[in-house]
Amino acid sequence: MGDGTGLAEALLGLDGFRVLSVAETVAEVVIEIETTAVVVGCPGCGVRAEAQDRMVVEIRDLPAFGRPVRLMWRKRRWRCREALCAERSWTEVSEHVSTRAVLTRRAGVEACRQVGQNARPVSQLADELGVCWWTIMTAVDEHGRPLIDDPNRVGQVHGLGVDETSFLRATRTHPTLYATGLVDLDHHKLIDLVEGNSSVDLRRWLDGQPPGWLEGVGVVATDLAESYRAGLAGHLDHATRVADPFHVVRVGNRCLDAVRRRVQNETLGHRGRKRDPLYRIRKLMLTGAERLDEAGHERMLLGLRFGDPHDEVLGAWLAKESVRDLYLTEDPAEATMLVDKTIAGCASDEVAEIRSLGNTLRSWRAEILAYHDTGASNGPTEGLNLCVKKVKRAGHGFRCFEHYRLRVLLHAGGVSWPHRPRPPRLRTRPPHSNA
Ligand SMILES: [Zn+2]
Repeated sequence: MGDGTGLAEALLGLDGFRVLSVAETVAEVVIEIETTAVVVGCPGCGVRAEAQDRMVVEIRDLPAFGRPVRLMWRKRRWRCREALCAERSWTEVSEHVSTRAVLTRRAGVEACRQVGQNARPVSQLADELGVCWWTIMTAVDEHGRPLIDDPNRVGQVHGLGVDETSFLRATRTHPTLYATGLVDLDHHKLIDLVEGNSSVDLRRWLDGQPPGWLEGVGVVATDLAESYRAGLAGHLDHATRVADPFHVVRVGNRCLDAVRRRVQNETLGHRGRKRDPLYRIRKLMLTGAERLDEAGHERMLLGLRFGDPHDEVLGAWLAKESVRDLYLTEDPAEATMLVDKTIAGCASDEVAEIRSLGNTLRSWRAEILAYHDTGASNGPTEGLNLCVKKVKRAGHGFRCFEHYRLRVLLHAGGVSWPHRPRPPRLRTRPPHSNA
């Protein structure tokens, strides 16, 4: 390669191609290429074909040395001279470039990996490669769909998590749109993402799963949504249903928030402001009592003394704390005693919000206690929710749910990405070395 022949080809790395010229501008590198084939058989009859003219096709490849690359492929047209053959003329094809594609195959694969595995914005890749948004999204779809449809991606699942996540925030034309995430609790991966959060949406997904697979599911963890409970009925009656502790605690927190806001409004006639006594302690009250230090405790009591004349907020705080206490014990018998005490306490309360909390707890009593038997929780799902949010930020608001699903599953769905050899690492040189 020393004399210059083959150097350009070695850099390009597309076998079967010869480099005719390389030109560069500030914006891009332009490489003129053609195939090295000189003898080609007719695909129809096998007779040796005759070379005709060439046409130039422009394709984007992986960026080179920081600039987008434009390949100018002088594509040859071949002709069959056999009089009885149906093939008249055709243009050559290459394994590196699909017909009518704007990107080489390897550039498409890399774009898919960046958008999927690394959750990078499609628009960023479009800039880097010098193509439009749709070209990248098409490549993500073409190379990514087989990865998420791979039957080996999700094996038999024992613990299934069902969790709601928002898909699109409310606008003037539609309310907040939700999606439902299905999670493998043992392997911490997203199995699927379903549009909507109703019982019908969940049931439709379950309808699509093989009966044998559903039988293998032993535990289902959900939040305290009636829609999910209804959606599971019929398909997963054999599985132990668990109310996810995070969501149970959140129900207690929401009750406290609701009472605080109402009392605030009733005593001061407006929504919470920075100087209002209850507003100032809202975060302290949501913190677990065992994590409050002496000073925090004092501040909270002071805020309650000034802002909570009828001890309604205090009552909600105590109810919230007793919900949290359910998870301080690991003993099922003790948990049963605590949950029944909490339900009874809430039921006899004068505050409507607290009674309503008690009703929710009573309705989910079996699922709440199932946690102490199974230890199953959506904890891993919450981690996955962060992944989902990362994809969502990269997308600047999705409009197409299918694109959203594809990108979220590529990022958090436990996809096996094609192996990529790693080069040796060059280490940082020490300062003052002569190298
Ligand atoms: Zn022929």
